[in-house]
Amino acid sequence: MKTKILVVYTGGTIGMMARDEEESLVVSYLKEFKKYCLHSLVDEARVDFISVAEVKDSSEMNSNDWLEINSIIETNYLNYSAFVVLHGTDTMAYTATAISFLQLKTQKPIVFTGSQKPISAKDSDAVSNLQGAIDMVEYITNSSTARQGQVCIYFNEKLYQANRTTKTSTESISAFDSPHRPAIGGKRGGAYWLGNVFLNVETKEEQTWEFNGFDNEVALLKMHPAFSADRFCTYLTNSSIKGLLIETYGSGNIPINETLLKCLKNKIKDGMLALSVSQCIEGRVDSSLYQGGNAYRKVGVLEGKDLTTEAALVKLMIACNVSEAQFAKSILSTSIAGEQS
Ligand code: ASP
Repeated sequence: MKTKILVVYTGGTIGMMARDEEESLVVSYLKEFKKYCLHSLVDEARVDFISVAEVKDSSEMNSNDWLEINSIIETNYLNYSAFVVLHGTDTMAYTATAISFLQLKTQKPIVFTGSQKPISAKDSDAVSNLQGAIDMVEYITNSSTARQGQVCIYFNEKLYQANRTTKTSTESISAFDSPHRPAIGGKRGGAYWLGNVFLNVETKEEQTWEFNGFDNEVALLKMHPAFSADRFCTYLTNSSIKGLLIETYGSGNIPINETLLKCLKNKIKDGMLALSVSQCIEGRVDSSLYQGGNAYRKVGVLEGKDLTTEAALVKLMIACNVSEAQFAKSILSTSIAGEQS
C-alpha cells in the first residue's frame, strides 16, 4: 500500500510568521504556513494537511487540545498510514506523552515535530524537521520488521519515544533530549535508521484501566532551599488539589519537616495522590536511600522512578480521574506505554 500521511497542524514557532506591534512572533493559519513548504512536502499524492480549530503557541495548550489532536487522529485513522503532528516545542513533550497514553493500541506511527525558528526564517530548522518527520514515518511504514505503532518526537534528525522526552534547549536545534531512552531512530549520514526498540516487537502491556479524561486538579511543587512548609501547607490544606507532583532533590529527597509530613499524610488519607520525580535529568527516585525520601514514602508519597516531570504530570492527570484508589496508584507505579522503568 502506498503511504499516505496526515500532517496535523496545531501552530507553534514552526508556523509563526509576522510579528505584532510588540515584535512578538504570531502563529499563522495553515494556508499561510503551506506557502512556505517545499512542493514535495505539500504533494497531495503523499501528504494531506489538516488544522486544529484554533492554532496556537503551545504554551497556551491544555488537555482539551490533547483531546482534539487525539480525535483528529482517531477520525482519520483508517484513511492514513501515518501521522505527523506539527506542534510548538514548549509543551510538545506533554502533548506527545498524552497521545502516547491515548493511542496505546495504535498500529501506525504518530510523530510530533516543530522547530526552533519559524519556517519563514532564512536559517530555520523547520523544513528539515518537517521533511525528516515525513520521510521518517514513511521509512517506518515501509519497514517490514518495525513495530509501527509508536508515538514519537522527531527533532534534528533524532527520533525519540515521546513519553521519555523533555525540552532541554530554547536555542539549540537539538531542542529535546531523552535521558533514559536514547534516540530510537533517526537520520544518520543521510540515511534513516530504526533501533532495537522499534525492531523488537514487544507486546505492550494490556490496557487494564479505562481512560476517564484528564483531571486538571493537580499541582507541581519544585523543592528549593527557600521552600516554606507552613505557606505551602496552608495552600494545600485549603485547596481541592487531587494530585500533587513533587520535583524532589536527587534521588527523592525532601527536607524533613513535621508540618509538611502531617499535612501530606492527611491529604493522602483523604484521597490525594502524591508522586515524586527527581529534579535531576538523569537517574531515578529511590526514596529509601536517604531519610528525607524515606519519611515521605512512609506517609504515602509514591515513587515516580525515572519518569520525566512531563510524563509524571500527564499520568497524574489520568490517575486523578480514576475512582478506585488502588487502581489509580497502580497507574502511577506501572508503565503504561514504556514511559518508566
Ligand atoms: N512558544 C513556542 C511554542 O511552543 C515555542 C516553539 O514552538 O518552539 O509554541
